[in-house]
Amino acid sequence: MNVPLLDLGPTLEEQRQEIIEKVIEVVESTRYIQGPEVEGLEEEMCSYCNVAGAVGVSSGTDALLVSLMALGVGPGDLVLTTPYSFFATMGVIIRLGAIPVFADIDPVSFNIDPLRVAEVLADDSARKIKAIIPVHLYGQCADMSPIVELAEQYGIAVIEDAAQAIGAEAVYSSNGEKEWKKAGSMGLAGCFSFFPSKNLGAIGDGGMVVSRDEKFSDRVRLLRNHGGEPKYYHSVVGGNFRLDPIQAAVLRIKLRRLEQWHRQRRQNAENYNALFAEKQALNSIPVSTPEAVYGNCNGDNDLKRNYHIYNQYIIRVERRDELRSWLQQQQIATEIYYPLGLHQQKCLTDIFTPPPMAQTEKAAEETLALPIYPGLTPDMQEYVVKSIAQFYR
Ligand SMILES: *Cc1c(COP(=O)(O)O)cnc(C)c1O
Repeated sequence: MNVPLLDLGPTLEEQRQEIIEKVIEVVESTRYIQGPEVEGLEEEMCSYCNVAGAVGVSSGTDALLVSLMALGVGPGDLVLTTPYSFFATMGVIIRLGAIPVFADIDPVSFNIDPLRVAEVLADDSARKIKAIIPVHLYGQCADMSPIVELAEQYGIAVIEDAAQAIGAEAVYSSNGEKEWKKAGSMGLAGCFSFFPSKNLGAIGDGGMVVSRDEKFSDRVRLLRNHGGEPKYYHSVVGGNFRLDPIQAAVLRIKLRRLEQWHRQRRQNAENYNALFAEKQALNSIPVSTPEAVYGNCNGDNDLKRNYHIYNQYIIRVERRDELRSWLQQQQIATEIYYPLGLHQQKCLTDIFTPPPMAQTEKAAEETLALPIYPGLTPDMQEYVVKSIAQFYR
């Protein structure tokens, strides 16, 4: 049996005709820059995330870049982030001449650990840290309440890298009030990616910056189009960070199915968990399944505080690289997100040597992503788990 890591076919099939007709409609409209589809998606994302403003941009990377530009991050500034993420999270910091500093991850959620964040902020006596970028890795929210509280205490902005977590939710507490909040709506701003492999994927590149602060959204909107306001008068330097209307039009169609796809991914995750538990009961295998740290349920129960959308289903294993080759031989595709901490990347270590990050370095040796996409069949999942158990037998 051949099991790909990701197959976009099944979800395309659900909306194939509608998407093709819409693309033709945009082509025929001759509105190729900005326009009603982009604005429509921005409005829909505002209500989906329950935020004041949303600005469509060219990619998730540009969403992060333009957000830091809107904060005025520049040479000599520090930006605090997690060492365990996709490169873009750190790349945007360096591109602005700023320097990344890291707080290690929590080993269960793989997300930035608020206790480490507190330590790093306490050490920053020169007050050079201008922003914090927590990442909601794999589709599960970082522990945002303490992070935002710390940031407020130090007067620092929080920009959420929610590229993998559109629609993820967590119970968020501020000023003694608890409420359900969507990823991207807890910090000052949230950055989404519509890269095709994300839960809401375009047919090319795209991204979005959402914010609870309308003024911040206005600033991002200005910078998205070279900072020209009025047109051809530039008091600030921005860039071309615009979202393509064809992408926006397709995303609006796909947004209507997003909750359903989240549920399918969650169902697949539950299936894997049950299959692994079954194997474990027979014969211990050195595999730990992902835990939704706050309980993995969107019920009202206080202990169940996280709605994981499983952009990735990540297991921790022994002899990871050998297992991966074995699975490849069984025609099962897997991936390693990520084999190296950001603090270990050569482009950074050529400039300076950040301190070691023990939890990140361990995770980089042990994590493995299994196929989790909507349309993955129970047969395929059984085959994947059986093949893993076979390897350790
Ligand atoms: C995908 C991703 C990005 C970048 O998004 P692009 O749309 O590919 O530019 C940034 N951060 C994280 C954590 C991501 O997974």
